[in-house]
Amino acid sequence: MPTSPEILSFMVAGEWRSAGRELEPVFNPATGDTIAMLPHATIKDLDDALDGAEQGFEVWRKVSAFDRSKVLRGAADILRRGVSEIAARMTLEQGKPLAEARVETIVAADTFDWFAEEGRRAYGRVIPARYPGQRQITIRQPVGPVAAFAPWNFPAMGPARKIAAALAAGCSCIIKPSEEVPMTAIAIAKALEEAGLPKGVLSLVFGSPSQISTHLIASPIIRKITFTGSTAVGKELAGLAAQGAKRATMELGGHAPVLVFDDVDVDQVAQMAAMGKYRNAGQVCISPTRFYVMEPVLERFTQAFANVAKKLAVGNGLDESKQMGPVANPRRLQAMGQLIGDAVSHGAKVEAGGDRIGNQGNFWSPTVLSNVNSESNIMNLEPFGPVAVINPMSGLDDAIAQANRLPYGLAAYAFTRSNSNIIALGEGVDAGMIGINTLLVSSPEVPFGGVKESGYGHEGGIEGLDAFLHTKSISEM
Ligand code: NAD
Repeated sequence: MPTSPEILSFMVAGEWRSAGRELEPVFNPATGDTIAMLPHATIKDLDDALDGAEQGFEVWRKVSAFDRSKVLRGAADILRRGVSEIAARMTLEQGKPLAEARVETIVAADTFDWFAEEGRRAYGRVIPARYPGQRQITIRQPVGPVAAFAPWNFPAMGPARKIAAALAAGCSCIIKPSEEVPMTAIAIAKALEEAGLPKGVLSLVFGSPSQISTHLIASPIIRKITFTGSTAVGKELAGLAAQGAKRATMELGGHAPVLVFDDVDVDQVAQMAAMGKYRNAGQVCISPTRFYVMEPVLERFTQAFANVAKKLAVGNGLDESKQMGPVANPRRLQAMGQLIGDAVSHGAKVEAGGDRIGNQGNFWSPTVLSNVNSESNIMNLEPFGPVAVINPMSGLDDAIAQANRLPYGLAAYAFTRSNSNIIALGEGVDAGMIGINTLLVSSPEVPFGGVKESGYGHEGGIEGLDAFLHTKSISEM
Protein backbone atom coordinates (compact mmCIF):
# COMPACT_ATOMS: atom_id res chain seq x y z
CA MET A 1 0.00 0.00 0.00
CA PRO A 2 1.50 3.41 -0.87
CA THR A 3 2.32 5.48 2.19
CA SER A 4 1.22 9.09 2.28
CA PRO A 5 4.02 11.68 2.20
CA GLU A 6 5.43 12.99 5.46
CA ILE A 7 3.94 16.29 6.68
CA LEU A 8 6.75 18.66 7.57
CA SER A 9 6.67 21.53 10.09
CA PHE A 10 7.99 25.04 10.30
CA MET A 11 9.34 26.59 13.48
CA VAL A 12 8.15 29.81 15.05
CA ALA A 13 9.90 31.01 18.16
CA GLY A 14 10.85 27.51 19.25
CA GLU A 15 7.49 25.92 18.40
CA TRP A 16 7.11 23.48 15.50
CA ARG A 17 3.81 24.06 13.70
CA SER A 18 1.90 22.38 10.91
CA ALA A 19 -1.68 21.59 11.93
CA GLY A 20 -4.41 23.33 9.98
CA ARG A 21 -2.03 25.09 7.60
CA GLU A 22 -2.21 25.07 3.80
CA LEU A 23 0.06 22.31 2.46
CA GLU A 24 2.37 22.44 -0.57
CA PRO A 25 3.86 19.28 -2.11
CA VAL A 26 7.65 18.84 -2.19
CA PHE A 27 8.83 16.89 -5.25
CA ASN A 28 11.77 14.60 -5.92
CA PRO A 29 13.27 16.07 -9.11
CA ALA A 30 14.67 12.66 -10.11
CA THR A 31 11.27 10.94 -10.18
CA GLY A 32 8.59 13.60 -9.96
CA ASP A 33 7.19 11.84 -6.85
CA THR A 34 5.76 13.84 -3.97
CA ILE A 35 8.11 13.21 -1.06
CA ALA A 36 6.63 15.49 1.61
CA MET A 37 3.95 18.06 2.28
CA LEU A 38 5.09 21.48 3.48
CA PRO A 39 2.83 23.67 5.62
CA HIS A 40 2.67 27.39 4.84
CA ALA A 41 3.02 29.89 7.67
CA THR A 42 0.03 32.21 8.09
CA ILE A 43 0.31 35.96 8.70
CA LYS A 44 -0.29 35.22 12.39
CA ASP A 45 2.63 32.77 12.32
CA LEU A 46 4.83 35.45 10.75
CA ASP A 47 3.78 37.94 13.41
CA ASP A 48 4.62 35.39 16.10
CA ALA A 49 8.02 34.87 14.44
CA LEU A 50 8.58 38.65 14.48
CA ASP A 51 7.66 38.87 18.17
CA GLY A 52 9.96 35.92 18.83
CA ALA A 53 12.79 37.60 16.93
CA GLU A 54 12.33 40.83 18.89
CA GLN A 55 12.38 39.04 22.25
CA GLY A 56 15.01 36.55 21.14
CA PHE A 57 17.31 39.38 20.09
CA GLU A 58 17.19 40.88 23.59
CA VAL A 59 18.17 37.50 25.04
CA TRP A 60 20.81 36.52 22.47
CA ARG A 61 22.64 39.84 22.23
CA LYS A 62 23.36 39.56 25.96
CA VAL A 63 24.82 36.06 25.67
CA SER A 64 28.60 36.42 25.53
CA ALA A 65 30.32 35.80 22.21
CA PHE A 66 32.11 32.93 23.96
CA ASP A 67 28.85 31.20 24.85
CA ARG A 68 27.24 31.93 21.49
CA SER A 69 30.22 30.25 19.93
CA LYS A 70 29.56 27.07 21.93
CA VAL A 71 26.02 26.81 20.57
CA LEU A 72 27.19 27.27 16.98
CA ARG A 73 29.96 24.72 17.42
CA GLY A 74 27.47 22.32 18.95
CA ALA A 75 25.22 22.67 15.89
CA ALA A 76 28.21 22.07 13.61
CA ASP A 77 28.98 18.80 15.43
CA ILE A 78 25.35 17.67 15.18
CA LEU A 79 25.32 18.38 11.44
CA ARG A 80 28.53 16.39 10.98
CA ARG A 81 27.13 13.44 12.92
CA GLY A 82 23.96 13.56 10.81
CA VAL A 83 25.72 13.91 7.48
CA SER A 84 24.44 10.66 5.94
CA GLU A 85 20.81 11.30 6.74
CA ILE A 86 20.92 15.01 5.86
CA ALA A 87 22.69 14.35 2.56
CA ALA A 88 20.16 11.68 1.61
CA ARG A 89 17.30 14.09 2.24
CA MET A 90 19.08 16.84 0.32
CA THR A 91 19.50 14.58 -2.69
CA LEU A 92 15.85 13.52 -2.48
CA GLU A 93 14.58 17.10 -2.50
CA GLN A 94 17.17 18.84 -4.69
CA GLY A 95 18.59 16.11 -6.91
CA LYS A 96 22.36 16.61 -6.55
CA PRO A 97 24.48 13.44 -6.28
CA LEU A 98 24.94 12.11 -2.75
CA ALA A 99 28.69 12.82 -2.81
CA GLU A 100 27.99 16.52 -3.47
CA ALA A 101 25.27 16.57 -0.80
CA ARG A 102 27.68 15.13 1.77
CA VAL A 103 30.36 17.70 0.95
CA GLU A 104 27.81 20.49 1.17
CA THR A 105 26.61 19.30 4.59
CA ILE A 106 30.17 19.18 5.91
CA VAL A 107 30.99 22.63 4.53
CA ALA A 108 27.78 23.95 6.14
CA ALA A 109 29.08 22.54 9.45
CA ASP A 110 32.46 24.18 8.76
CA THR A 111 30.61 27.45 8.19
CA PHE A 112 29.04 27.24 11.65
CA ASP A 113 32.52 26.57 13.08
CA TRP A 114 34.07 29.49 11.20
CA PHE A 115 31.45 31.97 12.41
CA ALA A 116 31.52 30.47 15.93
CA GLU A 117 35.17 31.52 16.06
CA GLU A 118 34.87 34.77 14.13
CA GLY A 119 32.03 35.98 16.37
CA ARG A 120 34.57 36.01 19.21
CA ARG A 121 36.74 38.43 17.26
CA ALA A 122 34.23 41.21 16.65
CA TYR A 123 36.86 43.71 17.79
CA GLY A 124 36.38 47.44 18.21
CA ARG A 125 39.26 49.92 18.44
CA VAL A 126 40.71 52.81 20.43
CA ILE A 127 41.07 56.05 18.47
CA PRO A 128 43.57 58.69 19.66
CA ALA A 129 41.50 61.69 20.75
CA ARG A 130 42.19 65.30 19.84
CA TYR A 131 40.97 66.58 23.26
CA PRO A 132 43.04 65.97 26.40
CA GLY A 133 41.38 63.59 28.82
CA GLN A 134 38.98 62.19 26.23
CA ARG A 135 38.89 58.55 25.20
CA GLN A 136 37.35 57.47 21.92
CA ILE A 137 36.51 53.86 21.21
CA THR A 138 34.39 51.89 18.83
CA ILE A 139 32.43 48.77 19.67
CA ARG A 140 30.72 46.35 17.30
CA GLN A 141 27.09 45.55 18.00
CA PRO A 142 24.59 43.23 16.31
CA VAL A 143 22.36 45.09 13.83
CA GLY A 144 19.17 43.48 15.18
CA PRO A 145 16.62 40.93 13.97
CA VAL A 146 17.36 39.65 10.46
CA ALA A 147 15.03 38.46 7.67
CA ALA A 148 16.88 35.92 5.52
CA PHE A 149 15.85 34.36 2.20
CA ALA A 150 17.78 31.35 0.86
CA PRO A 151 17.49 29.66 -2.55
CA TRP A 152 17.00 26.06 -3.68
CA ASN A 153 20.37 25.27 -5.28
CA PHE A 154 22.34 24.84 -2.04
CA PRO A 155 19.84 23.60 0.55
CA ALA A 156 22.44 23.50 3.38
CA MET A 157 24.96 26.20 2.45
CA GLY A 158 22.30 28.77 1.57
CA PRO A 159 20.71 28.83 5.02
CA ALA A 160 23.99 28.06 6.89
CA ARG A 161 25.84 31.11 5.60
CA LYS A 162 23.06 33.42 6.66
CA ILE A 163 22.07 31.84 9.97
CA ALA A 164 25.63 31.19 11.21
CA ALA A 165 26.82 34.74 10.55
CA ALA A 166 23.70 36.39 11.96
CA LEU A 167 23.76 34.32 15.16
CA ALA A 168 27.52 34.71 15.63
CA ALA A 169 27.07 38.48 15.51
CA GLY A 170 24.34 38.30 18.18
CA CYS A 171 21.36 38.87 15.87
CA SER A 172 18.13 36.91 15.89
CA CYS A 173 16.98 35.60 12.53
CA ILE A 174 13.82 34.61 10.69
CA ILE A 175 14.75 32.54 7.66
CA LYS A 176 12.62 31.56 4.70
CA PRO A 177 14.51 28.84 2.85
CA SER A 178 13.21 27.71 -0.52
CA GLU A 179 9.89 25.85 -0.36
CA GLU A 180 11.37 23.41 -2.90
CA VAL A 181 14.10 22.15 -0.52
CA PRO A 182 12.76 22.51 3.03
CA MET A 183 14.05 19.32 4.64
CA THR A 184 17.72 20.28 4.79
CA ALA A 185 16.89 23.65 6.34
CA ILE A 186 14.68 21.93 8.90
CA ALA A 187 17.64 19.69 9.84
CA ILE A 188 19.80 22.80 10.40
CA ALA A 189 17.16 24.44 12.60
CA LYS A 190 16.83 21.21 14.60
CA ALA A 191 20.61 21.05 15.05
CA LEU A 192 20.62 24.57 16.50
CA GLU A 193 17.68 23.76 18.75
CA GLU A 194 19.45 20.63 20.03
CA ALA A 195 22.65 22.62 20.56
CA GLY A 196 20.80 24.91 22.96
CA LEU A 197 19.84 27.98 20.94
CA PRO A 198 17.32 29.92 23.07
CA LYS A 199 13.74 29.97 21.77
CA GLY A 200 12.86 32.87 19.49
CA VAL A 201 16.42 33.51 18.32
CA LEU A 202 15.69 31.55 15.14
CA SER A 203 12.43 31.04 13.29
CA LEU A 204 12.08 29.03 10.10
CA VAL A 205 9.06 29.73 7.89
CA PHE A 206 7.73 28.65 4.50
CA GLY A 207 4.91 29.89 2.34
CA SER A 208 4.28 32.32 -0.47
CA PRO A 209 7.73 33.94 -0.99
CA SER A 210 6.43 37.40 -1.89
CA GLN A 211 3.90 37.43 0.94
CA ILE A 212 6.54 36.46 3.50
CA SER A 213 9.21 38.84 2.24
CA THR A 214 6.81 41.79 1.98
CA HIS A 215 5.44 41.17 5.47
CA LEU A 216 8.77 40.63 7.19
CA ILE A 217 10.70 43.41 5.48
CA ALA A 218 7.93 45.94 6.22
CA SER A 219 8.05 45.15 9.94
CA PRO A 220 9.92 47.73 12.05
CA ILE A 221 11.33 44.80 14.06
CA ILE A 222 13.51 43.65 11.13
CA ARG A 223 16.76 45.63 10.80
CA LYS A 224 18.63 43.65 8.16
CA ILE A 225 17.73 41.71 5.01
CA THR A 226 19.87 39.02 3.42
CA PHE A 227 18.81 37.42 0.14
CA THR A 228 20.34 34.93 -2.29
CA GLY A 229 18.57 34.36 -5.58
CA SER A 230 17.86 35.98 -8.92
CA THR A 231 18.78 39.56 -9.75
CA ALA A 232 15.12 40.33 -10.55
CA VAL A 233 13.85 39.29 -7.10
CA GLY A 234 16.89 40.83 -5.39
CA LYS A 235 16.11 44.23 -6.87
CA GLU A 236 12.53 44.00 -5.57
CA LEU A 237 13.65 43.07 -2.06
CA ALA A 238 16.39 45.73 -2.05
CA GLY A 239 13.66 48.28 -2.88
CA LEU A 240 11.53 47.07 0.05
CA ALA A 241 14.54 47.22 2.36
CA ALA A 242 15.34 50.76 1.21
CA GLN A 243 11.85 51.93 2.17
CA GLY A 244 12.69 51.16 5.80
CA ALA A 245 16.34 52.29 5.49
CA LYS A 246 17.33 48.71 6.33
CA ARG A 247 20.68 47.22 5.59
CA ALA A 248 20.76 44.49 2.96
CA THR A 249 23.10 41.87 1.59
CA MET A 250 22.23 40.78 -1.93
CA GLU A 251 23.80 37.64 -3.44
CA LEU A 252 22.33 37.65 -6.94
CA GLY A 253 22.94 36.04 -10.28
CA GLY A 254 26.15 35.54 -12.22
CA HIS A 255 27.32 34.52 -15.67
CA ALA A 256 30.92 33.55 -15.02
CA PRO A 257 33.42 33.97 -17.83
CA VAL A 258 36.33 31.52 -18.12
CA LEU A 259 39.31 32.93 -20.03
CA VAL A 260 41.59 30.21 -21.40
CA PHE A 261 44.97 31.30 -22.79
CA ASP A 262 47.09 29.17 -25.11
CA ASP A 263 49.96 28.68 -22.64
CA VAL A 264 48.17 26.07 -20.48
CA ASP A 265 47.79 22.28 -20.51
CA VAL A 266 44.61 22.38 -22.59
CA ASP A 267 43.38 18.85 -21.87
CA GLN A 268 43.88 19.21 -18.14
CA VAL A 269 42.08 22.57 -18.01
CA ALA A 270 39.21 21.28 -20.16
CA GLN A 271 38.78 18.26 -17.87
CA MET A 272 38.78 20.36 -14.71
CA ALA A 273 36.51 23.01 -16.19
CA ALA A 274 33.95 20.48 -17.44
CA MET A 275 33.77 18.72 -14.07
CA GLY A 276 33.27 22.15 -12.45
CA LYS A 277 30.63 23.14 -14.98
CA TYR A 278 28.37 20.15 -14.29
CA ARG A 279 28.64 20.29 -10.49
CA ASN A 280 25.10 20.60 -9.12
CA ALA A 281 23.94 20.34 -12.77
CA GLY A 282 25.31 23.84 -13.36
CA GLN A 283 22.83 25.39 -10.93
CA VAL A 284 25.47 27.41 -9.17
CA CYS A 285 25.66 31.21 -9.27
CA ILE A 286 29.46 30.99 -9.72
CA SER A 287 29.26 28.16 -12.28
CA PRO A 288 31.85 28.50 -15.06
CA THR A 289 29.69 29.22 -18.11
CA ARG A 290 31.03 31.54 -20.83
CA PHE A 291 34.27 30.01 -22.04
CA TYR A 292 36.53 32.23 -24.15
CA VAL A 293 39.45 30.25 -25.52
CA MET A 294 42.42 31.48 -27.57
CA GLU A 295 42.17 30.42 -31.20
CA PRO A 296 45.25 28.12 -31.36
CA VAL A 297 43.80 25.81 -28.66
CA LEU A 298 40.07 26.38 -29.26
CA GLU A 299 39.32 23.21 -31.21
CA ARG A 300 41.30 20.96 -28.89
CA PHE A 301 39.76 22.52 -25.78
CA THR A 302 36.22 22.22 -27.18
CA GLN A 303 36.62 18.55 -28.08
CA ALA A 304 38.22 17.65 -24.74
CA PHE A 305 35.44 19.47 -22.85
CA ALA A 306 32.70 17.85 -24.98
CA ASN A 307 34.23 14.41 -24.40
CA VAL A 308 33.91 14.85 -20.64
CA ALA A 309 30.30 16.04 -21.05
CA LYS A 310 29.38 13.04 -23.22
CA LYS A 311 30.84 10.54 -20.75
CA LEU A 312 29.30 11.99 -17.60
CA ALA A 313 27.03 9.52 -15.77
CA VAL A 314 23.69 11.28 -15.37
CA GLY A 315 20.92 9.84 -13.21
CA ASN A 316 19.26 9.71 -9.82
CA GLY A 317 21.66 11.28 -7.31
CA LEU A 318 20.88 8.52 -4.80
CA ASP A 319 22.76 6.12 -7.09
CA GLU A 320 26.39 6.56 -6.03
CA SER A 321 27.63 5.80 -9.56
CA LYS A 322 26.01 8.97 -10.97
CA GLN A 323 28.05 12.14 -11.44
CA MET A 324 25.23 14.54 -12.28
CA GLY A 325 21.63 14.51 -11.08
CA PRO A 326 18.50 16.11 -12.49
CA VAL A 327 17.93 19.85 -12.60
CA ALA A 328 16.04 20.90 -9.51
CA ASN A 329 12.70 21.89 -11.01
CA PRO A 330 10.77 21.89 -14.31
CA ARG A 331 11.47 25.64 -14.74
CA ARG A 332 15.13 24.82 -15.37
CA LEU A 333 14.21 22.17 -17.99
CA GLN A 334 12.10 24.73 -19.78
CA ALA A 335 14.85 27.35 -19.55
CA MET A 336 17.43 24.90 -20.97
CA GLY A 337 15.17 24.11 -23.93
CA GLN A 338 14.54 27.78 -24.67
CA LEU A 339 18.12 28.99 -24.26
CA ILE A 340 19.67 26.18 -26.30
CA GLY A 341 16.99 26.44 -29.02
CA ASP A 342 17.56 30.19 -29.27
CA ALA A 343 21.36 29.76 -29.44
CA VAL A 344 21.06 27.15 -32.21
CA SER A 345 18.71 29.41 -34.17
CA HIS A 346 21.46 32.06 -33.95
CA GLY A 347 24.00 29.62 -35.45
CA ALA A 348 25.46 27.80 -32.42
CA LYS A 349 26.79 24.28 -32.89
CA VAL A 350 25.82 21.59 -30.35
CA GLU A 351 29.07 19.79 -29.43
CA ALA A 352 27.48 17.61 -26.72
CA GLY A 353 24.03 17.03 -25.24
CA GLY A 354 21.39 19.58 -26.10
CA ASP A 355 18.31 17.58 -25.05
CA ARG A 356 16.24 16.38 -22.17
CA ILE A 357 16.97 12.79 -21.12
CA GLY A 358 13.83 10.64 -20.96
CA ASN A 359 10.51 11.99 -19.79
CA GLN A 360 10.55 11.06 -16.13
CA GLY A 361 12.44 13.32 -13.73
CA ASN A 362 14.12 16.58 -14.72
CA PHE A 363 17.17 15.18 -16.49
CA TRP A 364 19.01 17.36 -19.01
CA SER A 365 22.07 16.11 -20.87
CA PRO A 366 25.39 17.87 -20.14
CA THR A 367 25.50 20.34 -23.01
CA VAL A 368 28.32 22.13 -24.83
CA LEU A 369 27.67 24.80 -27.46
CA SER A 370 30.31 26.40 -29.68
CA ASN A 371 30.25 29.34 -32.08
CA VAL A 372 27.60 31.07 -29.99
CA ASN A 373 26.43 34.46 -31.24
CA SER A 374 26.75 37.15 -28.57
CA GLU A 375 23.19 38.26 -29.37
CA SER A 376 21.83 34.86 -28.21
CA ASN A 377 19.97 34.90 -24.92
CA ILE A 378 22.34 32.36 -23.43
CA MET A 379 25.24 34.82 -23.82
CA ASN A 380 23.32 37.43 -21.84
CA LEU A 381 21.01 35.71 -19.33
CA GLU A 382 22.19 33.46 -16.51
CA PRO A 383 21.56 29.90 -17.80
CA PHE A 384 21.67 28.24 -14.36
CA GLY A 385 21.86 24.73 -15.78
CA PRO A 386 24.20 22.11 -17.31
CA VAL A 387 25.27 24.08 -20.36
CA ALA A 388 28.63 25.60 -21.32
CA VAL A 389 29.24 27.94 -24.24
CA ILE A 390 32.67 28.05 -25.89
CA ASN A 391 33.77 30.92 -28.12
CA PRO A 392 37.13 32.20 -29.39
CA MET A 393 39.13 35.10 -27.92
CA SER A 394 42.11 36.87 -29.42
CA GLY A 395 44.22 37.79 -26.37
CA LEU A 396 44.38 39.67 -23.09
CA ASP A 397 42.47 42.82 -24.05
CA ASP A 398 39.71 40.80 -25.71
CA ALA A 399 39.56 38.48 -22.67
CA ILE A 400 38.96 41.39 -20.30
CA ALA A 401 36.44 43.01 -22.67
CA GLN A 402 34.45 39.76 -23.03
CA ALA A 403 34.56 39.08 -19.29
CA ASN A 404 33.21 42.55 -18.52
CA ARG A 405 30.57 42.81 -21.23
CA LEU A 406 27.57 41.81 -19.06
CA PRO A 407 25.87 43.59 -16.17
CA TYR A 408 26.81 40.62 -13.94
CA GLY A 409 30.01 40.56 -11.88
CA LEU A 410 30.01 37.59 -9.51
CA ALA A 411 32.75 35.04 -10.30
CA ALA A 412 35.27 34.93 -13.14
CA TYR A 413 38.00 32.42 -13.95
CA ALA A 414 41.16 32.49 -16.01
CA PHE A 415 43.75 29.89 -16.98
CA THR A 416 47.20 31.11 -17.98
CA ARG A 417 50.81 30.64 -16.93
CA SER A 418 51.82 34.20 -17.75
CA ASN A 419 52.48 36.31 -14.68
CA SER A 420 51.72 39.54 -16.51
CA ASN A 421 48.37 38.12 -17.66
CA ILE A 422 47.59 37.03 -14.10
CA ILE A 423 48.23 40.51 -12.75
CA ALA A 424 46.26 42.24 -15.53
CA LEU A 425 43.30 39.86 -15.14
CA GLY A 426 43.24 40.20 -11.36
CA GLU A 427 43.10 43.99 -11.74
CA GLY A 428 40.97 44.29 -14.86
CA VAL A 429 38.12 41.79 -14.61
CA ASP A 430 35.01 43.21 -12.93
CA ALA A 431 33.97 40.45 -10.54
CA GLY A 432 33.62 39.90 -6.83
CA MET A 433 35.68 36.70 -7.04
CA ILE A 434 38.35 35.61 -9.51
CA GLY A 435 39.85 32.15 -9.71
CA ILE A 436 43.15 32.05 -11.59
CA ASN A 437 44.18 28.51 -12.54
CA THR A 438 41.52 27.23 -10.15
CA LEU A 439 37.76 26.97 -9.92
CA LEU A 440 37.81 26.86 -6.11
CA VAL A 441 36.83 30.37 -5.04
CA SER A 442 34.34 29.68 -2.26
CA SER A 443 34.97 28.51 1.30
CA PRO A 444 33.78 29.67 4.74
CA GLU A 445 36.93 31.76 5.27
CA VAL A 446 36.76 33.66 2.01
CA PRO A 447 34.42 36.60 1.28
CA PHE A 448 31.76 35.67 -1.27
CA GLY A 449 29.91 38.41 -3.11
CA GLY A 450 29.44 40.24 -6.36
CA VAL A 451 29.66 43.61 -8.04
CA LYS A 452 27.35 45.32 -10.56
CA GLU A 453 23.97 43.56 -10.83
CA SER A 454 25.32 40.49 -9.06
CA GLY A 455 24.56 42.32 -5.83
CA TYR A 456 26.38 43.81 -2.88
CA GLY A 457 27.74 42.75 0.47
CA HIS A 458 29.48 39.52 1.37
CA GLU A 459 28.88 36.17 2.98
CA GLY A 460 31.81 34.24 4.36
CA GLY A 461 35.11 35.59 5.61
CA ILE A 462 35.37 38.37 8.16
CA GLU A 463 33.18 40.41 5.81
CA GLY A 464 30.38 37.89 6.35
CA LEU A 465 30.30 38.73 10.05
CA ASP A 466 30.59 42.47 9.40
CA ALA A 467 27.35 42.27 7.46
CA PHE A 468 25.47 41.70 10.73
CA LEU A 469 27.32 44.23 12.89
CA HIS A 470 27.23 47.98 13.16
CA THR A 471 29.96 50.15 14.55
CA LYS A 472 29.17 52.41 17.49
CA SER A 473 31.64 55.10 18.47
CA ILE A 474 31.80 56.04 22.14
CA SER A 475 33.56 59.21 23.25
CA GLU A 476 34.26 59.35 26.97
CA MET A 477 35.63 62.20 29.05
P1 NAD B 1 12.91 33.20 -9.01
O1 NAD B 1 13.55 34.44 -9.49
O2 NAD B 1 11.42 33.13 -8.98
O3 NAD B 1 13.37 32.83 -7.52
C1 NAD B 1 14.70 32.86 -7.10
C2 NAD B 1 14.71 32.59 -5.59
O4 NAD B 1 14.06 33.66 -4.90
C3 NAD B 1 13.93 31.34 -5.18
O5 NAD B 1 14.64 30.71 -4.15
C4 NAD B 1 12.58 31.86 -4.68
O6 NAD B 1 12.02 31.05 -3.66
C5 NAD B 1 12.95 33.21 -4.12
N1 NAD B 1 11.91 34.22 -4.29
C6 NAD B 1 11.18 34.46 -5.39
N2 NAD B 1 10.38 35.52 -5.20
C7 NAD B 1 10.62 35.95 -3.94
C8 NAD B 1 10.10 37.02 -3.16
N3 NAD B 1 9.20 37.89 -3.64
N4 NAD B 1 10.56 37.16 -1.90
C9 NAD B 1 11.50 36.31 -1.39
N5 NAD B 1 12.03 35.31 -2.09
C10 NAD B 1 11.58 35.12 -3.35
O7 NAD B 1 13.44 32.08 -9.92
P2 NAD B 1 13.74 30.52 -9.81
O8 NAD B 1 13.04 29.87 -10.94
O9 NAD B 1 13.53 29.94 -8.45
O10 NAD B 1 15.28 30.56 -10.11
C11 NAD B 1 15.64 31.08 -11.37
C12 NAD B 1 16.77 31.99 -11.34
O11 NAD B 1 17.12 32.44 -10.05
C13 NAD B 1 17.99 31.27 -11.84
O12 NAD B 1 18.04 31.36 -13.23
C14 NAD B 1 19.09 32.02 -11.22
O13 NAD B 1 19.41 33.11 -12.05
C15 NAD B 1 18.52 32.58 -9.97
N6 NAD B 1 19.00 31.90 -8.77
C16 NAD B 1 20.18 32.33 -8.26
C17 NAD B 1 20.70 31.72 -7.13
C18 NAD B 1 22.00 32.16 -6.56
O14 NAD B 1 22.65 31.36 -5.90
N7 NAD B 1 22.39 33.40 -6.74
C19 NAD B 1 20.00 30.68 -6.54
C20 NAD B 1 18.77 30.26 -7.07
C21 NAD B 1 18.28 30.91 -8.19
